[in-house]
Amino acid sequence: MRLSHYYVPTLREAPSDADLISSRLLIRGGFIRKVASGVFVYLPLGFRVLKKVEQIVREEMERIGCHELLMPIMQPADMWHLSGRWDDYGPDMIKLRDRHKRDFALGPTHEEIITTTLKHELNSYRHLPIVFYQITTKFRDEIRPRFGLMRAREFLMKDAYSFHADNDSFKKTYRAFYSAYSTIMERIGLRHIVVEADTGAIGGSESHEFNVIADSGEGKLLFCDCGYAANDEKAEYAISDSTDTEEPLSLQKVDTPDVKTIEQVARFLDVGRERIVKSLLYKGKDTQMMVLLRGDQELNEAKLRSRTGDQTLSLVPPEEVRSLLGVEAGFVGPIDLPDGFEIVGDFTVKSLGNMIVGAMERDMHYKNARTGRDFIVDRWEDLKVAKPGDPCPKCGEPLKQTRGIELGHIFNLGTKYSQSMGGLFSSEKGEMKPYIMGCYGWGISRTISAVVEQLQDNDGMIWPRSVAPFEIIVLPLPSKDSEAFSFAEDLYELLRSRGYEVLIDDRDVSPGIKFKDADLIGIPLRITLGRSFSENKVELKLRNEPTHMNVDVSGGIEPLLEKVEKLLVTFDPASKERDPS
Ligand SMILES: [Zn+2]
Repeated sequence: MRLSHYYVPTLREAPSDADLISSRLLIRGGFIRKVASGVFVYLPLGFRVLKKVEQIVREEMERIGCHELLMPIMQPADMWHLSGRWDDYGPDMIKLRDRHKRDFALGPTHEEIITTTLKHELNSYRHLPIVFYQITTKFRDEIRPRFGLMRAREFLMKDAYSFHADNDSFKKTYRAFYSAYSTIMERIGLRHIVVEADTGAIGGSESHEFNVIADSGEGKLLFCDCGYAANDEKAEYAISDSTDTEEPLSLQKVDTPDVKTIEQVARFLDVGRERIVKSLLYKGKDTQMMVLLRGDQELNEAKLRSRTGDQTLSLVPPEEVRSLLGVEAGFVGPIDLPDGFEIVGDFTVKSLGNMIVGAMERDMHYKNARTGRDFIVDRWEDLKVAKPGDPCPKCGEPLKQTRGIELGHIFNLGTKYSQSMGGLFSSEKGEMKPYIMGCYGWGISRTISAVVEQLQDNDGMIWPRSVAPFEIIVLPLPSKDSEAFSFAEDLYELLRSRGYEVLIDDRDVSPGIKFKDADLIGIPLRITLGRSFSENKVELKLRNEPTHMNVDVSGGIEPLLEKVEKLLVTFDPASKERDPS
């Protein structure tokens, strides 16, 4: 492609609302343009990258025997009513109404459609297992779309759904996806980490996330050299189920005027925060509970929901606490708690001896409260957010932390959708059974941002060859009537005829602009025909190398072509450290 005739509108400055390095560079490099909050246009360079990501993902899906199909974006509400998600999905789902006043959703995901469509046809064990996938636009009405393509409202995703007669068959497919997703990361050429994840509202029991390692990533990931890795919602730690050894002291009610937060109580009573127990009220559809947590720890709500099996649990807001218990939230505690609340304690509370809790009375706390003596905890669970330094649940060594951008996610859906939507098949014995299902997502458009977040420098993007919009950029620096320019033209044609994807900067602009733009758009290999061409020398420079090398072409072009191939094959900008440690 000739830059003189190609649309690459590079900008000197990024718009002020571009909040991530990838958003700034993709806009400045002329890859994308923002249309509305969280909605983007892919310009020619961006579209080329998108297509390449798509192709890698498609090839790996085909390799493990998935069948590509395409489902509608516009989905009738009835299917969502059947699964119960029309209401459960919440405001993230974009809903619309047609002229006959029928409700539709713009698909954020496709479990409902695929189960409803195929349930009458996949009705025998002979049809199973089978896996379908599609690459299509999805919608999610993010409350605060940000980070460019990373948290867009309209985005391109690959989603796959598998149907199985039994768990062994499901596990085989799950493992195949696990390895296909790892291969996709390897093929793109990204440092990545696979972590265990919470299954959350989508249900099911098993789940892994495939994360690109990047400091700007939203996901906090805990890992250990032994191989254990989980996101912070899921991460566990080695629980020491020890009870306290402290000398019991007698319960004492103390004045704590206007002292409500953990920090205030710690300061007022001159104790460490770990001595104070937070009492948090949670309410679900049919349950209400008090959660006890050490003052220096953070509650992991995902763990609370999965440990108690109630996905509807949410924190009771302060106004409601007051009307429910007649006391401000800051003075709530487990002693004198009215009936009807289950008390669930985090294990770290169990090892406390004499602790401080709210006294269920304004401006009062209890000192030296003890479990078993002063109040009863109904059950002990691991509920706190695991932190770096906590002992690894597998080997006991301290956990480490890194940040990641989630690109792939694989789930065991179990029979959640087949059961609620009537997805049944007749087994070998002739019984009607619900399928076991899996679902497997990959963010195609978000991959573009993730690559840039991991691979860039002060001058611009650094595309790995796998997804680079072009592999080579040829820069003739002297004027158009020079020998160097016509050599560049010939070289451009020759490289194209050998199958390379080549850009030539044949614009009538200064060398400075050519160098700046080539660095900004991040083409892996730059071939420059500058001053040294009068000595038959051509400059080759990889995008991530500080210096160039000269290749002599006085004896012919072959040595140059060999060098080009060698440099491209070994170009691996992420290779410096492939491991998170
Ligand atoms: Zn470990």
